[in-house]
Amino acid sequence: MFKKFITGVLTAMVTFSTVFCPVNAEAEDNINAKSAELDKLAYSGDDLGAAYTPQKTTFKVWSPTASEVKLNLYKTGSDDEDGAEKIADSAMNYDKTNGVWSITVEGDIKNTYYTYSVTNDGVTNEVVDIYAKAAGVNGNRGMVVDLSHTNPENWSQDKRVLPEKQTEAIVWEVHVRDFSNQKESGISREHSGKYLAFTEDGTALEGCDTTPTGLAYLKKLGVTHVQINPFYDFGSIDETKPNGEEYNWGYDPKNYNVPEGSYSTNPYDGNVRINEVKQMVQALHNAGIGVIMDVVYNHTYTLDDSYFNLTVPNYYYRFNEDGSPANNSGCGNDTASERAMYSKFMVDSVYYWASEYHIDGFRFDLMGLHDVDTMKKIREKLNTIDKRIIMYGEAWDLGYVEGVDLAVQKNISKIDGVAAFNDGIRDAIKGDNFEAVGKGYVQGKGGTVGIEDGVMAATKQWAETPADTVTYVSCHDNMTFYDKLTASVLGTKDPSLYRKRNEQLVQMNKLGAACVLTSQGMSFMLAGEEMARSKDGDHNSYVSSPTLNQIDWQCLEKYGDLTAYYKGLIDLRKSYAPFTDDTKTTIDNMTVFKNTDTKVLGFMMTNKLTADTQWDKVICIFNANTDKNVEVQLEGENLPENWVVVVNNVSAGVEKLKEIEGTKVTVPSTSAMVLVDKESFEKANIKADTDFQQTLIENTAHEAATQLSTVGEKRLAKRGKDHKALKIAGIVAGTAAGVAAVAAGAVVLKKKKGKKRK
Ligand code: CA
Repeated sequence: MFKKFITGVLTAMVTFSTVFCPVNAEAEDNINAKSAELDKLAYSGDDLGAAYTPQKTTFKVWSPTASEVKLNLYKTGSDDEDGAEKIADSAMNYDKTNGVWSITVEGDIKNTYYTYSVTNDGVTNEVVDIYAKAAGVNGNRGMVVDLSHTNPENWSQDKRVLPEKQTEAIVWEVHVRDFSNQKESGISREHSGKYLAFTEDGTALEGCDTTPTGLAYLKKLGVTHVQINPFYDFGSIDETKPNGEEYNWGYDPKNYNVPEGSYSTNPYDGNVRINEVKQMVQALHNAGIGVIMDVVYNHTYTLDDSYFNLTVPNYYYRFNEDGSPANNSGCGNDTASERAMYSKFMVDSVYYWASEYHIDGFRFDLMGLHDVDTMKKIREKLNTIDKRIIMYGEAWDLGYVEGVDLAVQKNISKIDGVAAFNDGIRDAIKGDNFEAVGKGYVQGKGGTVGIEDGVMAATKQWAETPADTVTYVSCHDNMTFYDKLTASVLGTKDPSLYRKRNEQLVQMNKLGAACVLTSQGMSFMLAGEEMARSKDGDHNSYVSSPTLNQIDWQCLEKYGDLTAYYKGLIDLRKSYAPFTDDTKTTIDNMTVFKNTDTKVLGFMMTNKLTADTQWDKVICIFNANTDKNVEVQLEGENLPENWVVVVNNVSAGVEKLKEIEGTKVTVPSTSAMVLVDKESFEKANIKADTDFQQTLIENTAHEAATQLSTVGEKRLAKRGKDHKALKIAGIVAGTAAGVAAVAAGAVVLKKKKGKKRK
């Protein structure tokens, strides 16, 4: 589908540094046939790369096409560094039975940088080992590494954070640099944009020590996993100038098994980035948060001079019949997972990250370009570590590949333990993902079918069970959710509106969040979606400025009520097992209300999993009418007559907001309502810590009150009152403190000033 193709293009944003010419004329007719021949020489050993011991290091590289391969050893990762020196170049020995070139170097050569000079068709190129585990600056030389010396303290006690079921994961997608780029984040400037920013605990918004940021914030929010945008070594950022205005999402892989250097505090020493990624993972694990790595095996930074292509020309890529490189990724150089040695590479690479770095899950970029068998092999290999390691990806159907069964949505149920993003609910909630102005359900467009299908995790379409599905409304691609709401409701003419608080949009955002977090399937959100993150309407910010891309942590004081709402929905989701059912049991027992308004969706779930300890019946109702409250008749077998409201248009969580007698409820415009049958509500007596929500709401009310008494002061004097500031303050006044803040205005401000402000 065109739509999905565009998704791919936008996801796989790459800056091309080479022109993608068809390969040489002689090869055009038979590239694929040649590659199939090379498959017969596939090597199955697990020792490709540099196998280090203090006594000796053995280097092995597969290249059945090469006429000569030499090993080069260097003192440094580049010639521009002090002490740069070439130590040796030695011819490697070829084993014609398996296509492997090898050499053993005696003695302890750890921290020695290396490359191979590979001669193919009479042309010699210096390449980095595709199996290199460490590299120098900009990934231009590999490095022999003693991995045991890269481990942080207590690394052997580090434990993965894995859900019992994939559907229990609630994923927050973040870019390393975005996380800590903002000065006001309170995260040290020394670690700004670095892996180590994730190791700083106890940080708070500058000037407000009760609003946590960074790791401390994530612990409070309650997401179970972070998905981190690419942090293997990518090519687009000059690692010698890591903190400049140059910015990239990193979907341009250069060395797959090496961490990116620009996020490390020292990109020159190959050990440092490895150690710092491990510290990041360890800190997140200690905080109870798992790490999902965004992996991009579907294309490389470049084609002609990629290390794959210079080692074994053409073999690792797909080509069209006319000899031109396949381009279903939109990046000009689709890799060929169906090739024996690329399939093996993917399996080995994922396994390496999972085992060496204790990674908890993998998100596969454009997974729909990979073959089903390779995805199955990766799953099987990860199962040898732990079956609970998470796997999902973009299963977009980007085009046919001759003779290859691709890991697209319709095939996803063939691959146990691998889920696919559900673009159906994404677009149903907010409108067309690729258009700024198109509206969706929450903006009042109506149409509950797409939402209902999403609640059921696409099991009426391509998914077999909710375990096949990732439910979401926004990710790094395309506009942020709040930007999309702004553009579609208020238009795109005034860019200043993107970062302006608008109560109607906040309500739409809350409704969208409720749709996602009460749906079946794994939950997923872009970092900051829960604080109305904006990129000023930029729908493809992959090379935009770091400032535009960064998380604006000050939004926690502007939209704290929204964040509190997300936090409450997360608590809700964790408190009722049917939300995270990985079978179809809950769906099969679900009652979807039939007699509702056309813009209202209501459904009742019955707990067939944990009714003895948790709630029995839960009803979710969404009213997308922007202009009217709707009275909804509850439906379902054995319908209880007494209900407890735990989510309404203002608050979300597991606490009682209100009781309802009977089977009719009124749901306000643009809002969700979640009800629990009173009997099981009281029996289960589920509690959640609401302190964080209170703090967020208080601080936001306080901030609004500040505006009321300072920024709005002049207008207040002029017009008698400031409608806007009052309205903001009123909306966020969900708690006693909030009400007090609004009522008392400047009095509260004055009282709290010394306490709250640094
Ligand atoms: Ca790099």
